[in-house]
Amino acid sequence: MKEKSAPDILPRVFQQAVEQADMAISITDPRANILYVNPAFTRVTGYSAAEVAGRNQSLLSNKTTPIAIYEALWQKIGHGEPWSGRLVNRRRDGGKYLAELLITPVLDGAGALTHYLGLHRDITELYELECQVRNDKALIESALEAAPVVLALLDEEERVVLDNHEYKKLMADLGIAEPAKVILEAVRNGEGRGFGPPREGAAAFADREVRIDRPGGPAPRWFSCSGTWVRRDGGGADAFFDRQNHIYLLLVAKETTRARAEHEKTRMAALQAVLAEENRVDGLRESLSAAVFQMEGPINVLASVMAMMGRRGGQDPMAGAFNEALGAAREALATLRGAIPERSEETPTAVNLNEVLQDVMELATRRFLAAGIGVSWKPQAVLPNLHGYPNRLRAMLKAVVDNAIEAMNVKGWRERELRLATRSLAGAIELTIEDTGPGIPPEIRLKVFEPFFSTRKPAGHHLGTGLSAAQQVALDHGGSIELDPANGGGCKVRVVLPLRNTVGEPT
Ligand code: FAD
Repeated sequence: MKEKSAPDILPRVFQQAVEQADMAISITDPRANILYVNPAFTRVTGYSAAEVAGRNQSLLSNKTTPIAIYEALWQKIGHGEPWSGRLVNRRRDGGKYLAELLITPVLDGAGALTHYLGLHRDITELYELECQVRNDKALIESALEAAPVVLALLDEEERVVLDNHEYKKLMADLGIAEPAKVILEAVRNGEGRGFGPPREGAAAFADREVRIDRPGGPAPRWFSCSGTWVRRDGGGADAFFDRQNHIYLLLVAKETTRARAEHEKTRMAALQAVLAEENRVDGLRESLSAAVFQMEGPINVLASVMAMMGRRGGQDPMAGAFNEALGAAREALATLRGAIPERSEETPTAVNLNEVLQDVMELATRRFLAAGIGVSWKPQAVLPNLHGYPNRLRAMLKAVVDNAIEAMNVKGWRERELRLATRSLAGAIELTIEDTGPGIPPEIRLKVFEPFFSTRKPAGHHLGTGLSAAQQVALDHGGSIELDPANGGGCKVRVVLPLRNTVGEPT
C-alpha cells in the first residue's frame, strides 16, 4: 500500500487542528459573515455552529466597544493587514466578556481578499488581574508619593530607579543631584558598621543617624536612615524560566532635624557650661605655666652663678644665704608647678568635624555680631567621622577662630570676613579657616606655634599659648596645622587630620 504524502494529509490535519484548537476560531467572508466556527467558539460564545452560520460577526458585539475601534479594525483588515485588539462581547446567554481578538485577512493566489480568519479568547479574568495589579501599583505609588519620609529604590549600581516626592524635595533643598548616594556614603562611613549582606527582606542597616551639612550656615539636617534589601525580577525572555533576581536597596530616611534641634539646644547649653569651666581652668593653667616659665630664667641664672662661685673655691660669706634663697626659689617653683591643674582626661570617640566647627561658630556668634564679622561656611555635605578627642579638637579650632576674630576686630579695620570650609581628602579631612585680617608676616609664620609667642602686646590677656596648644592637638591626632597666606592677604589656617590615627592606643 502506498503511503500518503504530506500534501495529501495536510488538509485533513489542518481541519482536525482547527476543530480541536482551544481557541475560538471563525472564518468569514469579506463582509464578516460567518462561514465556519470551531467547537471552542461555541464553548466561549454559547452559539452553536448552526446558529451563527451566515450571520455577521457583529452578533457578538455588546455594543459598548467604541466605534473608533471598529473603524480602526476595518481600516487595517480592509488593507489586507492583520489586526489585534480587545472588544467587549456578549455571549448567547447575555453574559459579557472581554475578547482578545486577532483577525487575519486571507488572500487568494492573485492577492485578492477572499476571507477573514478570526481567533479570539476570553480574557476577562486576566484583565481583572491586570486591573488589580495596576490598582495596587497606583495605590502603592500614591502611598509612596504621599509618605512623609524620603524614599528611594536603588539598583545594584546604586542608581536611583524609583523615588518619591520627599526625595525630590530633598534634592532641591540640598542642591545635591543624588542625595541617596550622599546618605549611603554617610551610613558606610558612620561607625564603620557597613551594610548587612544582601538578602531579600533583610535589613541592610537600620536607624542610622545621618547628618547633612549645607553651605551658607543653616543648621545641618538630620535623618534616621534604614535600608532594606528587596528583590526585583529581571525582565526579558531569558529571565522567564531562569529567574534572574536582582537585589535592590530600599532607602527610607526619616527627617529628625526638629527633634535633633531640641537635643542640640540642650547639648549647646551643657557645652557652654563645660567650656566656661574649661576656660577658667585653662586661664589658670596658662597663668601658672607662664609664671613658672618666667621664674625658671632667673633661677637658672642664679644656679649657674652659684655653681661658678663654688668652682672658684673660697668661701663667700653670702654663699649660704644665696643657696638658701635658691633652694626656697626652687621649692616655690615646684609648688607652682604642682598647682598647675591637670588637664581632664578625655575619652576618644567618633567625631564629626563639621559638628565641631559648627559648635565653635555657634559659641562665637555673639562675638561675630559684636565685631561685625561676616561668616562664610562651606562644609562638605557629609564628612566621615574621625576617631579623636572632641573637646580638644573644639578647643583647637576655637583658638584659631578666636585669633581670627581678634586679628580683624581692630579699630578702623574694614574687611571683616571669616571663611570656614571642610572637605574630604584621600584618607584625611581638611579644614580651612581664613580671615581677612592683616595676616601674619612670613618671617614669623613658624614662630607663632612656639609656646608663649604672641604678636599682641604683653598687656593683653593672651599669653600666646593658643596656637602652640592647637598644634599639639593636631599632632596628637596624627595631623598638621599650618599657616598659608590667605587670598585676600589675611591669614589662612589649614588643618589636615588623617582618618586613620592612633588616638587612644597605648603609646
Ligand atoms: P457596524 O455598523 O457593523 O460597524 C461599525 C463600523 O465598522 C462602521 O462604521 C464601519 O466603519 C466599520 N465596518 C463594519 N463593517 C465593515 C465592513 N464590512 N467594511 C468596512 N468597514 C466596516 N466584532 C465584535 O464586536 N466582536 C467580535 O468578536 C468580532 N469578531 C470579528 C471577527 C472577524 C473575522 C471579523 C472580520 C470581524 C469581527 N468583528 C467583531 C467586527 C464586526 O464584524 C463588526 O464590525 C463590529 O461588531 C461592529 O458591528 P456593529 O453592528 O456595532 O457596527
